[in-house]
Amino acid sequence: MEHPGVFELRPSKSAPAIHVRVLRSWVPDYRDNELHFLLVDQEGLGIQAVTKENDCTNVRSRLQIQGCYEISRYACVDVDDFTAVITHPAMIRLGSASVFTPIADTQELPTQYFDFATRRKMEIQAKKERGIVDFIGIYLKLEDKTSKKGRPYVVLTLRDISNQDMSVALWKEIATSTHRFNRRNIETAASPAIVAFTSLKANEQNGLQLQSTNATYVFLNPHHLEAELLKEMWQNQEPHHPALQIVPDNYVSIADLLQLQTTEIKGRTFNIKAEITEIQTTKGWSYTACPKCNQSILQVDTQWFCTKDGMQEKANTMYRIIATLSDNTERIQAVIFDHAGRQLLGMTCEELAEKEDPINTLYSLMDKEALMSIQLQHDKRMRTLKCIVNKASYPAVENIEATSSSVADATKTPAPTTPGQKGSTATGAKRQLEFDGKPSQPKYLHIHTPRILTLNTLSPADSDPTLKRPGKRNLTN
Ligand SMILES: [Zn+2]
Repeated sequence: MEHPGVFELRPSKSAPAIHVRVLRSWVPDYRDNELHFLLVDQEGLGIQAVTKENDCTNVRSRLQIQGCYEISRYACVDVDDFTAVITHPAMIRLGSASVFTPIADTQELPTQYFDFATRRKMEIQAKKERGIVDFIGIYLKLEDKTSKKGRPYVVLTLRDISNQDMSVALWKEIATSTHRFNRRNIETAASPAIVAFTSLKANEQNGLQLQSTNATYVFLNPHHLEAELLKEMWQNQEPHHPALQIVPDNYVSIADLLQLQTTEIKGRTFNIKAEITEIQTTKGWSYTACPKCNQSILQVDTQWFCTKDGMQEKANTMYRIIATLSDNTERIQAVIFDHAGRQLLGMTCEELAEKEDPINTLYSLMDKEALMSIQLQHDKRMRTLKCIVNKASYPAVENIEATSSSVADATKTPAPTTPGQKGSTATGAKRQLEFDGKPSQPKYLHIHTPRILTLNTLSPADSDPTLKRPGKRNLTN
């Protein structure tokens, strides 16, 4: 503790010998002639170091990542806004003349350092030309994508400490570098998996988004207080699925969807409010999927073959429900995939298959208005559009009715709520009731408790086992 820390270092001021651990190194975007390092001292404070031009090779050869050093003969310089990745009022400039003396590895020098931003700070950074943040969240999912210019990248969806979802795009350079981003470890980690990212660029285009820079490293389950807080938050939440991003506005009618041209539907997601008015079960309601990529998988003896991932020991059973959706304007053929199926039924496809009468349970989906997030596809054979349902939920109002009669009665005479009143009641349904205190203005809440939509509330009519119920809904009203 006798050694000066990096806390007091200021541009152009004294540069005492410091004891630090070298945590990361990178070549910044658009600065091929520079090499940057992140150093951390025994107080857990980070500082960025830079070396340039001919000094790079020399300095790189003398500093090991995770090595501990006494560093002297360096300069404290002004922060360079184009390359800075953390908030410290100074940077360290290293060169061939700097002295690096290895010191004993000590627990006093942390092995990780993060400068996590709050949501608010991320929003502020997003407005800057180059706003850089560290981010931490609960891992929800990962997708492979390609940019319009054909640049591959992966997108991770995470839940942050403010309980909002955030997408983090990692460009190929980072996504394919296993010492920066160990994809397999993250995808196979036990839930909740906490993932931390360093030095992401914040953008605000369709909402707040983060993307990798050359300085980005990704850490699974980092040792950090915020990781513990996230785990606690997760454990207090039921159930665990990505928050629906369906908003009450901008719903499209099915009649309008059917007017769209092929060029207008590609890559777009639409929100609709519709009822399932028909379910076709002749070809089943599920498919066997590759456990790695979720695509259809083919049985080969006792094993399974994925055209992308090769032989697999086992396959997953996932929802693929063929249905007709109707709103009061039109009807459209739909395929309801696994995620939406789980959201609507409140159980996995495998759980449904174990039920005594799964078909009846499936029919419970019918004739209830649901909010759905869909994509459109051309059905060449039918020469029409069909829709792929990726996410779905029920409006909160139904939620309440389905819960219990006493709560449903309460909706008729909502108690006056004062602005400061907090939802301190015990049940989720009651909380939603208070949320929804203005009956004249129905709100659609994200459903965090699909359990209460389940099938123990089936009325006899809902259990009607007939396959199709034509005429149940008048499309012209
Ligand atoms: Zn696969």
